[in-house]
Amino acid sequence: MKEHRFASDLIARVQALRRDHRAVQDESAVESMRRIFITFWFFAPFELALAIWYWNYQLPENPPEAQLWAHSLFLLHAITAATTLLLVAVVYRVLHRPNLSTRTAIALQVLMCFTYLMYGVAVSYFDVAVGGTEAFILVCFAVSGLSLMRPLVSLALFSVTFVAVWQMLLLSDENGRQLAIMRLNTLAAVILAVIVSVIIFHQYAKGLLLRRELEVLASQDALTLLPNRRELVDRLKKALNFTARLGSSGALLFIDLDQFKNINDTRGHNVGDMLLKEVAQRLVASVREVDTVARLGGDEFIVMLENLGDDLDSAARQAEVVSEKILKKISQPYFLAATEHHSTASIGVALFSPTEHSVDELMKQADVAMYQAKDAGRNTVRFYDAQMQAKLLERAAMEDDLREAIEQGQFVLHYQPQVDSAGVVLGAEVLVRWLHPRRGLVAPGQFIPLAEETGLIGDLGKWVLVTACGQLSRWAIQPSLSPLSLSVNVSSHQFRQTDFVDQVTRILSDTGADPQRLKLELTESIMVRDVDQVIAKMNALKGQGISFSLDDFGTGYSSLSYLKRLPMDQLKIDQGFVQDILIDPNDAAIARMVIALADSMQLSVIAEGVETQAQCDFLARLGCHSYQGYLFGRPVPVAEFEALVIQA
Ligand code: C2E
Ligand code: CA
Ligand code: CA
Repeated sequence: MKEHRFASDLIARVQALRRDHRAVQDESAVESMRRIFITFWFFAPFELALAIWYWNYQLPENPPEAQLWAHSLFLLHAITAATTLLLVAVVYRVLHRPNLSTRTAIALQVLMCFTYLMYGVAVSYFDVAVGGTEAFILVCFAVSGLSLMRPLVSLALFSVTFVAVWQMLLLSDENGRQLAIMRLNTLAAVILAVIVSVIIFHQYAKGLLLRRELEVLASQDALTLLPNRRELVDRLKKALNFTARLGSSGALLFIDLDQFKNINDTRGHNVGDMLLKEVAQRLVASVREVDTVARLGGDEFIVMLENLGDDLDSAARQAEVVSEKILKKISQPYFLAATEHHSTASIGVALFSPTEHSVDELMKQADVAMYQAKDAGRNTVRFYDAQMQAKLLERAAMEDDLREAIEQGQFVLHYQPQVDSAGVVLGAEVLVRWLHPRRGLVAPGQFIPLAEETGLIGDLGKWVLVTACGQLSRWAIQPSLSPLSLSVNVSSHQFRQTDFVDQVTRILSDTGADPQRLKLELTESIMVRDVDQVIAKMNALKGQGISFSLDDFGTGYSSLSYLKRLPMDQLKIDQGFVQDILIDPNDAAIARMVIALADSMQLSVIAEGVETQAQCDFLARLGCHSYQGYLFGRPVPVAEFEALVIQA
């Protein structure tokens, strides 16, 4: 398997070299034609001038050969002038054509070279003086040498000239010594011309190859040597055209390494790079030769599978098989810098069929599916499907709506009573509701998570705090309502804002609310990061008189040692444990434990979600003395809540 791959690699390389050489030849044909053409700009007028000069030449009477000589020279220069002018005109026109073919360029180049060569031969016949011949021949060879990139053509031109000149010299009537010198000159000229030609060719080819190399680099990822994003987009475009024409489907696999950042952070970028290279190799080894493996950047790779047949279901199965194979390969151990590493990947698959699809759309689909794979717990494959996309679109629309809602103040607070064991209302938890212009009253479960993800919770939470504090200060002047306190939910994201303490302080002073009446409900997720910072903030707020309740207690996985350090005032038994407290002994045990814990830490405790008297009695026997739940009242608008308190 390995040997086979090596051999085919080699063949591919040789083919690439050949292609390069051809490309060099093709490009050079035009370029060398252009260069020879430039010399014609000088050659043509020069010949015209010579022809005119010989036309006006004062012919001597004797000897008669002199007349013949002058006539012949006029004819030679006149014919050459006419030919070169014609060629200048033709080449000039051809060069300005938009798509000049290689063949035309070569043909014209050969014609120009041939003109030079014949001219050299002819002149050498007439001007046999030592030192005159080789000058021409040198020019001819040097110029025709520019076409060396077509070795056979050049060789033919060389041979014709060489033989012709040699024969010319035989015809001449010089004595033996002079003849030998002339032949030596000719030979020297040939050698010089070859050297000049080779240098020209070499320089030129080098430049061209360099340019091609740069082109390759621009389409290649420097680290893994895989095609980069640009190249991938090109290939994907081609694949989509191909699919549309031939009706065969394909798949795009979006591969993202799981927790790659960890390796980079803990082991350094060097090891990270090594891992990426190894992953690249494993990906290439997992697919067919014809498939494309590309790196988008970072730890993101794309595999493009083409020609998966015309049945989309079968294409999906093939894509799944390949994906599973990739997952397996990637999850095998890595030996990097003498240590063993483990890595997994999440793969999102988007299928493409002859219908529709743009490159952007397809990439986005694969990306979306990849995120689904991440959500599903990583090291897994997910296919893009339209339903999922609809959900995402809905989410995006909701996000826009939410932004607008915050600007326009489309929220209201509902108040749910919190009571003591005698049923006396101590206060309320404020629960936000969204009065959506089209959807009606939306429950927080449908928008709080989104607000948290998008960061909108900051503004929303602030509004809740301002409204609750405003309410507290209004109650402060009504004797029947002034003892009430309010619990406000603060999400971890909001609490982590650097200016949270300042924010609350300002709200308290702006509204004039009594901090003693304000309780903030935090969840265990607050302890995930920077516990020291959290404690500092809580202490700062407690210093002002605010108290804290730990919401949904028991549902998180917070360590008790951390919990002990938090300056809490109250634990809130989650409604999940209250619901089945009478039937599920585990729930009862947890409730009992929370109450015992609160006792030992000298915290108060409240149970939420109390719906029946039996639940309430059971909790009371365990030692719980505050309650919240439908049994005592549902969350209601403030007026209703006030009525409830005043009636009692
Ligand atoms: P939570 O803090 O645990 O609030 C208690 C939820 O339980 C409320 O749902 C309340 O209506 C419901 N509930 C109260 N008594 C009972 C009962 O006896 N039986 C049952 N089945 N349910 C009961 P809601 O109002 O839909 O709020 C859901 C969650 O939304 C809250 O859970 C809280 O996490 C979040 N939330 C609500 N308002 C805000 C807010 O202003 N800021 C933030 N950050 N989160 C909020
Ligand atoms: Ca709460
Ligand atoms: Ca709760």
